[in-house]
Parts: sequence; structure tokens; C-alpha cells
Amino acid sequence: MSRERAKLVVGNWKMHGRIGENATLLIEVAAGASALQKGVSVGVCVPCPYLAQSQALLSGSVVRWGIQDVSAHTGGAFTGEVAAEMAADFGVTYAIVGHSERRAYHRESPELVASKAQRAIEAGLTPIVCVGETLEEREAGTTERIIGTQLEAVLQALTEEQAAGIVVAYEPVWAIGTGKTARPGQAQDVHAFLRHKLLEKGATVANVPLLYGGSVKPENAEELFGQKDIDGGLIGGASLKSKDFLAICRAAQTVTH
Ligand code: PEP
Repeated sequence: MSRERAKLVVGNWKMHGRIGENATLLIEVAAGASALQKGVSVGVCVPCPYLAQSQALLSGSVVRWGIQDVSAHTGGAFTGEVAAEMAADFGVTYAIVGHSERRAYHRESPELVASKAQRAIEAGLTPIVCVGETLEEREAGTTERIIGTQLEAVLQALTEEQAAGIVVAYEPVWAIGTGKTARPGQAQDVHAFLRHKLLEKGATVANVPLLYGGSVKPENAEELFGQKDIDGGLIGGASLKSKDFLAICRAAQTVTH
């Protein structure tokens, strides 16, 4: 398996931002990211109303932009939903699917998340498939069963070629927005398990970027990203401050796999 996988750092703004403050953040991130070495890619997943703004301010920069969810449908009577094709109209690269907040608050099943990943791929987007266990599930010793089921549903719905084009983010639910981070070794163990699952789908799938997410900060990013199977991060809170987000991006370039 390659030891030369590139790093990827993607911000998840969640439901934060206003048009004025976004402009400053996007311009600062684009400027800072331009100084990064090759081998580190950067993206930001913004709320839907700001896709056009992101496209306007990030086009021509090294930063790609994305959406935080897509519909499992391609169009029709689905009030409030956004089709992957619609996001594609705004030059979107990434589509987060299966974020734990959507699995928890919107009761998204592994099968629904798999359909969303399919729609994203069909529209030419790269799905960032989030998987993760709750604290109760970890304490019950069911982490691998839970995240294995979540990943398996997506892999089963995709061809090997499609699966080779996804990104997977391991986000322990107990670490998201809580300030609690998985210990680097703890995260690596889960990433190694996910890597093995990906390999079962095919040799080309084994090298998909495996991101860690959950209270990543400038202070802990380098150690996390230095783990063998951690290829970067999905960053929530810290992606809202350009200084912190760019420091995390720089941490990704200081570690090489
Ligand atoms: C997230 O929401 O994807 C996330 C990782 O959040 P945070 O970094 O704030 O824990």
C-alpha cells in the first residue's frame, strides 16, 4: 500500500456564517492555502446559500468548496432538499454525507447515506462519507461493528471504480464539538480497521483518503496527521477561524506518510 498518500484538510462550517464574515474567511483561507506545499489539498464545506459566494471567491484559488449534505433524490417534490446536480452547478467538489449530526437528528440510515453517496458521485462530486460511534457504542465494545456497518452500506452501493473516488472521515461522535479528541493511537486503530475494509473492496479503494474529525485543533493536528493511516482531517469549529484552520493545514504538510 502506498506510503505517499497526499493530505487533505476539509472544513465543515456546519450552520455557521454570514455573507460578510464569510468573505473575509474565504479570502484569508485562499491566500494562506496558496503558500502550502503540493501534496496538501484544502476544501471548505459551506451552508448551501453560500455556495455561490464560495464559487465567486475561491475560483482560481487552490481551495475547493463543498456542500454538507445532498438529497438521495435527483429532483422532484422534496421540499427543502438540495440535489447533488444543483450543487454541481456551483462548481462544488465535495459533498459530506452521513455526518453524525444528520444520522442523529434526521435519522439517516446507512442505506440512505449510501444513496446520497451514489447521487453525489453521479453528479461528479466527491462524497466525504462520515462514520463514527457514540460513546455508549465505544464503551460497549461495538465501535468496529458500528462503523463497519456504516462503511459497508456505502461500499456495497458503489462499483470498485466509484468507491476508489470517495473520501472517508472517521468522526467519533463523542469527539465532535466536545473538545475531547481521540488519542492518536486510538484514532489510528480505527483508521487501520477502515483501511482494511476498503482493501476488501479492492486494491485501488484501499488508498482513498481517510480523514480524522473530532475537535482537531492546531495543537493536536500534527500528531494525529502523523499516524500511518490518517490522511488529513475534517475540521468543524476550528475551520471558522482562518488562523486556526490554516495552522491545521500547515500541520498536514509537516508530516509525510
Ligand atoms: C465536524 O463537525 O465534522 C467536526 C469534526 O467538528 P469539530 O471539529 O468541531 O469537533
